[in-house]
Amino acid sequence: MSITGRNKNAQVIEKLMTETATKDKKEGSVPAVAETRSKRLFERAKKVMPGGVNSPARACLSVDAEPVFMARADGPYLFDVDDTEYIDYVLSWGPMILGHRHPRLLEAIELGLEHGTSYGAPCRAEVELAELITELIPSIEMVRMVNSGTEACMSAIRVARAFTKRDLVIKFDGCYHGHADGFLVKAGSGLATLGIASSPGVPEEVSKLTISLPYNDLDAVSKAFQEHKDEIAAVIVEPIVGNSGLLNPKEGFLEGLRDLCTKHKALLIFDEVMTGFRVAKGGAQNLLNVKPDLTCLGKIIGGGLPVGAYGGRKDVMEMVAPQGSVYQAGTLSGNPLAMAAGLAQLRALRSEKIYAEMKDMTDKLAQGVRDAAKEHGIKVNVSSTCGMITVFFTKGEVTNFEEAQKADTEMFSKVWKELLNHGIYWPPSQFEAAFLSTMHTKRIIDQTIEAFDKVFKEVS
Ligand SMILES: *Cc1c(COP(=O)(O)O)cnc(C)c1O
Repeated sequence: MSITGRNKNAQVIEKLMTETATKDKKEGSVPAVAETRSKRLFERAKKVMPGGVNSPARACLSVDAEPVFMARADGPYLFDVDDTEYIDYVLSWGPMILGHRHPRLLEAIELGLEHGTSYGAPCRAEVELAELITELIPSIEMVRMVNSGTEACMSAIRVARAFTKRDLVIKFDGCYHGHADGFLVKAGSGLATLGIASSPGVPEEVSKLTISLPYNDLDAVSKAFQEHKDEIAAVIVEPIVGNSGLLNPKEGFLEGLRDLCTKHKALLIFDEVMTGFRVAKGGAQNLLNVKPDLTCLGKIIGGGLPVGAYGGRKDVMEMVAPQGSVYQAGTLSGNPLAMAAGLAQLRALRSEKIYAEMKDMTDKLAQGVRDAAKEHGIKVNVSSTCGMITVFFTKGEVTNFEEAQKADTEMFSKVWKELLNHGIYWPPSQFEAAFLSTMHTKRIIDQTIEAFDKVFKEVS
């Protein structure tokens, strides 16, 4: 990224911020001292958008706060519309693993822009991204690009049902696989936070096809396979769960799922929308050495642009239209700009060193938070893996969603608000994982631990 490029960007931001200010003025709203631009934007947003947001989690309802409207991002930082700086642990809910405005990403997008934004015809970048994904995740022999993680999971299930000629799907309590009808059964963070077990608008006939079982409970899965002999099309799982807060699989759990699926001729689907290219270069499946039949991807593979993908065994993926008869399509699928961004990000992530360093930083943060909590007598259970961390406010073990829900959400909410006041933008729910980027250096981590220490002192 050239100097002029950065200046240009600063000018654009300046212009956007002035426009916002002018619009506020035109509406005649004379700001009180405490009335921030964020607050005014939220008031406007609520009139024209449900809840004032385009996705529920970011509304900050579960921490009893109002959303902060962001204006720009750079490296590990977010800046809100009132120009307050935060260390960003949301990172667009995972995608921005290189931090914001990584030069290689900006360069790829700028170059892409010069070639137009969408063709609705095949392009080179989608072939190269598909080649790179199949190279880095060997269980994926063929892949189809879509526009979101939701689409990826929804489509993977459709193919699995067609392949097995069966209808039932096993998922796990607290796992989120996007908002397609069949998945909105005990679906983790977003719904737990809002207290919605399932969702109105989903016909009972559809939810009945989903069996939701406790994560890490292999016996329950085994029993379900016996009860529904030759009826289960697939088991879909977040191999490492991010959507209940971070939950690591118990030893043997994923291997057990693999064996049960093979034995009962059901497909094993790893939803790696969050963990793919985050916990390791080849995702959780390479870290934990368990091979699924199908994998869902999203988030990181789009470099911050809307991308999802599903892929896996060639004999299964060959069923997807136009090669096979399982219909699935997308006007913007394989979008050249999104593919260029994803390609640049994955290429930058090729080095193993990145993950070793990120694991170190995550461990350091986890230990720092544990130490600070101990110092101030706060009960926590800090759960982490490479690049992901959840601070559960409970002393108990957290191995599944039910145990996660025993955490003290009021304490979480207090801590969240104080962290925000100390310049830390942490995911606004007890049941979410916080993310690190390669820009979360030792200095940033130290600063974060210091903030936790201050906050714990205040709330203890
Ligand atoms: C985010 C997420 C999804 C949904 O992806 P969207 O792009 O938000 O539709 C699906 N599965 C998992 C594990 C996720 O974390």
